[in-house]
This record gives sequence, C-alpha cells and structure tokens, in this order.
Amino acid sequence: VVSTRGLAKSFGDVHACARIDLTVNRGEIVGVLGPSGSGKSTLLRHFNGLTRPDAGEVRVLGVDVATARGRRLLALRRRVGVVFQQFNLVGRLTVLENVLTGALGRVRGPRYGIVTWPRSLRQEALEHLDRVGLADRAYQRTASLSGGQQQRVAIARALMQRPELVLADEPVASLDPESAASVMDLLVRVCREDGLTVVCTLHQVELALRWTRRVVGLRDGTVVLDAPTSALDTSRLRGLYGTVPESVH
Ligand code: ATP
Ligand code: MG
Repeated sequence: VVSTRGLAKSFGDVHACARIDLTVNRGEIVGVLGPSGSGKSTLLRHFNGLTRPDAGEVRVLGVDVATARGRRLLALRRRVGVVFQQFNLVGRLTVLENVLTGALGRVRGPRYGIVTWPRSLRQEALEHLDRVGLADRAYQRTASLSGGQQQRVAIARALMQRPELVLADEPVASLDPESAASVMDLLVRVCREDGLTVVCTLHQVELALRWTRRVVGLRDGTVVLDAPTSALDTSRLRGLYGTVPESVH
C-alpha cells in the first residue's frame, strides 16, 4: 500500500527524513514512534502528497506520489483518510455536515457555495456516526463536543471517504488518557473491520504497544527500529529514545 525507497527531505540543514525505506502492506496497523522532531509528521505528509521528497521514491496505492500532480494527486487524496491531532473540523457546522464533507469527492455540483447532499449520502453519514457512537449528536454544532467526541467525528469523516489507507498524525495527543484510549480503540477497531491500512504516529510508547501490531521507530529522520509490536523490548526502545520512557519499565 505504501512503499518508500531512499526518501529524503530536508528543511535547510535539518534532515527531517534521511533515506527512509519503508513498506506497509494492506491491512497493517503501523505505529510510528520517535522523539519530537524525529520526522514522523514529515514522513506521513509524504503519503498523501502534502510534502514532496527531495530525493527517493514514494508509492502509495499504486500512485507515484513524488511526481503526481493535479487530478492524479487529488484522486489519490480521496483514497487516503486523514486524522490530525487538532481534528480540523469546522466548529460552526453540525456534526453531520462535518462527516458529509468526507464525501465531497463523490458529489457533483458547485465547487464553491452550498452543496445539497443526496439522501443516500446523509444516510451513509448517519451510519458512520452510529459506528463511532455519536448518532445522537448529528445535528449538534461540532464546536460543542468534547475533544474525544470531535476526534470521533473526524474518524467518521475519514470513513465517509471510503478510504483504503488512513493516516493519523498524533490522533490522541490532545486528549486526556481515558479519551485517548477510547479513541485509539475506536480507530483501530473500525479500520480493522473495514480492512483498512493504518499508519499512525504516536508520542506515547504505551499507546503503540497496546494498539498497533508493528512499530517503526524514527530518530533524526532515519528508521532505527521496525519490528512487530510483540517483539519490542526495552533495549530497542532505548535505542529509539536514548532512554527508556518511565512508563515502559
Ligand atoms: P513531533 O513529535 O514534535 O510532532 P515529528 O517527529 O513529527 O515531531 P517533524 O514535524 O516531522 O517531526 O519535523 C522533523 C524536523 O523537520 C524538525 O526538526 C522540524 O523542525 C523540521 N520541519 C518540519 N517541517 C518543517 C517546515 N515546514 N519547515 C521547516 N522545518 C520543518
Ligand atoms: Mg509531528
């Protein structure tokens, strides 16, 4: 689903990604771990063409993202759902409207201005809201929801795209531990049910250990660890962070 060869990206003197080779197969749920500034977000942004590499190859869902432009890039982005730390929802719209925006690629009509959503799409959006446990909030203003609920809306919006790949950049970093666990649980469960591939950057080792099957560790823009989650031990995590985070002992 995702494959990079020698992916390199610098910002001035900073090598955010330095010759990264990575392959993610269909249906995998991969956690990307690493200290702040190790290049996690930059790597993820290459997977839907938000960033282009300085050198190397990036293929996602059969598309050469390093060179794709215009319609081809847009078509790829529609196949890739994204979930961000800050939710990126429109607070003044209703929950249902936010979920429906995930289907913008599927409606004809005015590019700007008001979209009249077909009944079938509204029905589908309500079903996704039901899956994330927010059916009863459909007509509420999105801004009135809690952080955990807003992230559930963002997940429903991503599902509304009927994506093949889901990219999540620190999806629970703004949430309290309890909401974080329940949002991770939801994300992993719905993606597994739909057979989706997930690449999820995470700050906390515990979350990766609990919710992912494979962990890719970055440090200074290079992959220093790539192993099944079940095979991780503290010495490998030490290699990643320099020290083992308290909570892993
Ligand atoms: P965090 O855990 O804090 O989110 P990260 O692992 O996601 O960190 P990146 O955001 O990918 O790290 O950043 C990697 C490096 O590239 C950092 O040194 C960062 O300052 C730099 N960088 C990233 N994006 C840009 C940009 N648009 N302009 C300049 N420097 C950037
Ligand atoms: Mg980041």
